Amino acid sequence: MSERFDIAVIGCGVVGLAILRRLAMSGLKAVALEKGADILSGASKGNSALLHTGFDAPPKSLELKCMQAGYAEYLDIRQNLNLPLLETSAIIAAWNEEEKAKLEGIEKKARANGVNDVKQLSPTELRIREPQLSRNALGGLLVPGEHVIDPWSAPLAYAHQAIAHGAKIIRKAEVTAARFEKDAWHLTTAQGEVTARIVINAAGLYGDKVEALARTPSFEVKPRKGQFVVFDKPAAKLLRAILLPVPTARTKGVVLFRTIFGNLAIGPTAEETDERENATTDTATLEKLKARAIEMLPALKDVDVTALYAGLRPATQQSEYIIEADEKQNWITAAGIRSTGLTGSLGIAQHVSALYAKHFGKLPKKLPPPKWTPVPNLAEHAIRPYMKGGEIICHCEWVTRGEIEAATKGPLPAGDLAGLKRRTRATMGRCQGFYCAQHVSAAFEKAKHGAS
Ligand SMILES: Cc1cc2nc3c(=O)[nH]c(=O)nc-3n(C[C@H](O)[C@H](O)[C@H](O)COP(=O)(O)OP(=O)(O)OC[C@H]3O[C@@H](n4cnc5c(N)ncnc54)[C@H](O)[C@@H]3O)c2cc1C
Repeated sequence: MSERFDIAVIGCGVVGLAILRRLAMSGLKAVALEKGADILSGASKGNSALLHTGFDAPPKSLELKCMQAGYAEYLDIRQNLNLPLLETSAIIAAWNEEEKAKLEGIEKKARANGVNDVKQLSPTELRIREPQLSRNALGGLLVPGEHVIDPWSAPLAYAHQAIAHGAKIIRKAEVTAARFEKDAWHLTTAQGEVTARIVINAAGLYGDKVEALARTPSFEVKPRKGQFVVFDKPAAKLLRAILLPVPTARTKGVVLFRTIFGNLAIGPTAEETDERENATTDTATLEKLKARAIEMLPALKDVDVTALYAGLRPATQQSEYIIEADEKQNWITAAGIRSTGLTGSLGIAQHVSALYAKHFGKLPKKLPPPKWTPVPNLAEHAIRPYMKGGEIICHCEWVTRGEIEAATKGPLPAGDLAGLKRRTRATMGRCQGFYCAQHVSAAFEKAKHGAS
């Protein structure tokens, strides 16, 4: 490729796409390279999709700063991009006296982090808010600002907006080598060589491997798996708030939450693993998760499980985000964004943009007006296309042929069936594709190639 870019972002997870968006909107000539057939092929494809306030983040940390900036920007832009917000609030429930004693400390930390609307709940207040909750809960802490968002549409919208501002996204373009010559990086990819003045490593689960292509990595990715159990749609009526446990130093713990797609889920676990690609699930863990969900919300015993999934956090040996610029090497690293990157991504992009301006060149003070690129709604609580008619192809999730066709068009058509699922919800329902996968696949191929 003879074109030369100002910036090459390696990795199209939510972090890379948010960075691409911000830098493209600042007028830089930017490209993003993704090894998968579609965007969101790594950690960003399977998470809990909670929009966090940062109430329990390490005080004064970069993670807190990015999360709170990301949270604010998400609320600011979401209507222009048609991004949903399921306003749930969260409750940290105490299930024994020891946990109850910790609530005060959590409240103090939240206030120190600028989250001032937290409030302790007595068992009676808890029951009024959550009548289905087990009577074993001894109290809780309400965090009104915690919400649920769509894990897939948000990064897709960032990608579309980046493209509208001139960015390129190249998929199936794994970066396998990097050499710095004269004043630019030359990246070897499966789609040819890409040249850019500055490289931004946002390779998530492969952050250390990509770092090693150019410099000695200061960190090692130690993937941390999180398994989830998803209950069928009727379960969503049983709980209003996100139900959080009292967190430990190592993990936020297992959460019971409504999904944006109208289900109720429990997870994630936190398991060290060597898996970097596909996260596997195991029956014993899933049974434990299911049992814990029923313990907290007894009515769940009558609801079927619809799906199981697992995600991989790009954890490293340190808990803080690793975001740094190396001026001598024309390199920016955005790594180790393990548990809060969906919330933090827009804030991380702001931080990376400031690093760019400090080390590599001024960015225009006055930005051109944003070009808004709204995405189709996938959220269950808002109007969906099938409500206006159309031929339904996936009956569990009410996905229409029109949605499948639309997902094969535009500036970033679905790269494969997994990408199609993330753009439409097709095959992710009760039958898990048992009845519809063949029809969905045929509709996808027909829309792509015009074949039947
Ligand atoms: C179980 C779980 C629950 C979570 N819950 C939440 C939550 O509720 N709220 C929240 O805010 N966050 C949550 N997160 C965190 C969030 O999902 C991550 O922080 C985020 O997805 C990290 O994104 P990333 O872009 O850094 O990495 P990734 O998504 O891994 O993106 C990196 C991309 O780089 C690509 N790549 C790798 N190597 C190369 C190469 N050599 N060349 C080209 N491309 C390459 C990969 O294919 C991948 O697409 C959760 C995460 C997990 C796993």
